[in-house]
Amino acid sequence: MLDCAIIGGGPAGLTAGLYATRGGLKNVTLFEMGLPGGQITQSSEIENYPGFFEHDKTGMDFMDTWQKQCFHFGLKHEMKKVERVAKTGEHFTITLEGGETVEALTVITCTGSTPKRAGFKGEDEFFGKGVSTCATCDGFFYKDKAVTVLGGGDTALEEAFYLSNICSEVYVVHRRDEFRAAPPTLDRVKRKENIHLITDSVIEEAYGGMMGLDGVKIKNIKTNEITDMQNTGLFVFVGHNVQNSVLKDENGEFICDMNDWGQVIVDLSMKTSLKGLFAAGDMRIEAPKQVVSAAGDGSVAALQVIAYIQELA
Ligand code: FAD
Ligand code: NAP
Repeated sequence: MLDCAIIGGGPAGLTAGLYATRGGLKNVTLFEMGLPGGQITQSSEIENYPGFFEHDKTGMDFMDTWQKQCFHFGLKHEMKKVERVAKTGEHFTITLEGGETVEALTVITCTGSTPKRAGFKGEDEFFGKGVSTCATCDGFFYKDKAVTVLGGGDTALEEAFYLSNICSEVYVVHRRDEFRAAPPTLDRVKRKENIHLITDSVIEEAYGGMMGLDGVKIKNIKTNEITDMQNTGLFVFVGHNVQNSVLKDENGEFICDMNDWGQVIVDLSMKTSLKGLFAAGDMRIEAPKQVVSAAGDGSVAALQVIAYIQELA
């Protein structure tokens, strides 16, 4: 029986592993279907993690020492995909891909949330090289420059507003002439002089070269007119897929409370509605979707796990 099973080896899961093992738990396993590190390993640069200010280091370089540090304190890693978590009496049964099962007293799920791709030409090619899904992470790279934002939901408009305080001009491209975002958010955006709404339009193509994105072609779907927006960063906010499938039972029902967008409802201790089950990082409600906050969540969850196990004894 594991003291704690951690699912997902991004910043939240690795930090949970560090705090759980260094806090004295002997039997802690991290289940990560790939190499540990999480989403940030796709990034070519990280500039907003306090204390880390090395411009020539990628997200992969940045995460390398995290796993070494965890393994040093006794965290075990199994490179396996978790299919499902179920509570059986007082403990949990974790079903791995292939059907093998593992028992654990507590579980911390840290499986993240993946930004959706819009599907235009060049999106994958220039992802992380001019095409971004994170204004907090990458907005500063476009200080006093023009950027384009794709999407018409709350996230797109809130992030456009955030970017408008850093960038010279923000062009919001939306495929319809009505916005999904809440009316007050839309009003606030409309009042901002350097935000320009380009409706009934899609990104036809993101183009560039070896050095990254050079510009985007925007197509008006009613007139077919193409506008070439050169020297712009492109921020895509077309929704998120929360990686929450491990929390569904065999009937597809969630084993703990979730909000309407599939994010796990936790309290400030990262406790879910199910005793002994914790969630941390980008998959939880109101996650700022930053490495530093995911790591903070992981530490909080692990400290709560230690307290929970002490109470069981
Ligand atoms: P993730 O990092 O998403 O990790 C989740 C892990 O769970 C993954 O490794 C996944 O393989 C694993 N997993 C999922 N399902 C299962 C399963 N069923 N079984 C086993 N394993 C599973 N943040 C910043 O603070 N600064 C930045 O500059 C920055 N830049 C970014 C650039 C890019 C290109 C991207 C994509 C993100 C960036 N972010 C940045 C955001 C940051 O990476 C995330 O907020 C952070 O990684 C979230 O950590 P997490 O541990 O919650 O989840
Ligand atoms: P969302 O509401 O699903 O909006 C996604 C937007 O992207 C929509 O405008 C959609 O267009 C557009 N889109 C989707 N696929 C596209 C594609 N392939 N190409 C071009 N455009 C595409 O996602 P979200 O903004 O991330 O919000 C998710 C949920 O979180 C929402 O329920 C939202 O209300 C909530 N949220 C709330 C707050 C808040 O309350 N402060 C903040 C952020 C998010 P269409 O409109 O035409 O479908």
